[in-house]
Amino acid sequence: MNCLICGANTNERSDYCENHLSAYINLKEAYNEWKKAMDITWQEYLKRVIENENTGEWVRELAIHLLNENLE
Ligand SMILES: [Zn+2]
Repeated sequence: MNCLICGANTNERSDYCENHLSAYINLKEAYNEWKKAMDITWQEYLKRVIENENTGEWVRELAIHLLNENLE
């Protein structure tokens, strides 16, 4: 398959390439931490990640994709 975001080949049956997949795992883990501290929805969280200037490019691209496609 090809990565849904950048079109790079993916090794397994993944929707994302290695870089975007690891960004996804990091994003999910960070969200679980945030949820413990505050009441925040996934969509709100994604928006904050996108707006945060410290967010890395891989993560930002992924967050925009997830938000636009309404994916978790
Ligand atoms: Zn990718």
